[in-house]
Amino acid sequence: MRIKVLGSAAGGGFPQWNCGCSNCHRARRGLFSFKPRTQAQVAVSPAPATWFLLNASPDLRQQLLQDPEFAPAEGSRGTPISALILMSADVDGVMGLLHLREFQPLKIYATASVLRVLTEENSIFRSLERSVPPVQWEALPLDRPIEIYQGAAGAKSALTCKAVPLGGDYPDYVSAALRKTLAKEEAVIGLEFVQDENRFFYAPNLSGQNDQWKCHAKESDLALLDGTFWTDNELIGVRGSGKTAREIGHVPLSGPDGMLEQFPPAGKGRRVLIHLNNTNPVLDESGAANRAVRDAGWEVAYDGMEFEIGI
Ligand SMILES: [Zn+2]
Repeated sequence: MRIKVLGSAAGGGFPQWNCGCSNCHRARRGLFSFKPRTQAQVAVSPAPATWFLLNASPDLRQQLLQDPEFAPAEGSRGTPISALILMSADVDGVMGLLHLREFQPLKIYATASVLRVLTEENSIFRSLERSVPPVQWEALPLDRPIEIYQGAAGAKSALTCKAVPLGGDYPDYVSAALRKTLAKEEAVIGLEFVQDENRFFYAPNLSGQNDQWKCHAKESDLALLDGTFWTDNELIGVRGSGKTAREIGHVPLSGPDGMLEQFPPAGKGRRVLIHLNNTNPVLDESGAANRAVRDAGWEVAYDGMEFEIGI
């Protein structure tokens, strides 16, 4: 299976248009130790010319245009994208759906509750239903692998995808009336992909409200995990007020309860931080936080990073 990081930053990207924090300021000046990053977007491929998009970033159009592997064949109308899999109803993970409204039949997987948020309360997403046939909204069960790619005779094997509940909440824009009827554990999921015993686990939103992610991360050949914040009060330090990292659904990386400390020590595969917020000091490749992360055996995702497992 191949995995591509099309975007590696948290919501707002890096630099963020309205942020003058020291990271964003230095990225604007083009200092070489600060790589600009678009908003988090990952794609996974079980076979040539077959891709699944994980979430739909606000930068999706630009990300697809930049990579020739996502182009239609000359003279044709179509896409190598088989389906999208949404991991929450967060604006940063669903806004990109609106970039795909050019009458393209697609399959869109999400938990039943997230599908309700998108289709019952946010009628703008009906613009996707104008294709013939219209997009198929497919409910993704929790904790049960489903086959999303069957494999071809004599070629690559099937790819399964399992939704892993991560805790976390529905976004603020969901009405109180709808929220009351939604299953709490369906708000935010991680995804485990398996093809021929090769495992890839993706979880850019670790709330810390449960520990289920740990065994999936430990067993995977590649884990792309939540690298949003370095400290719990990082945003407050920049904005002067606001919520902590944990309050918005992200365990910070550093500290005794941080994600780096919590990661199971016996993990066998590559560990990569993704979804980096523009305030995160890990973005400074010459800084101490970046060094600490690498010394602890982690890599830091960047736009254009690619992986192959089991090939
Ligand atoms: Zn900033």
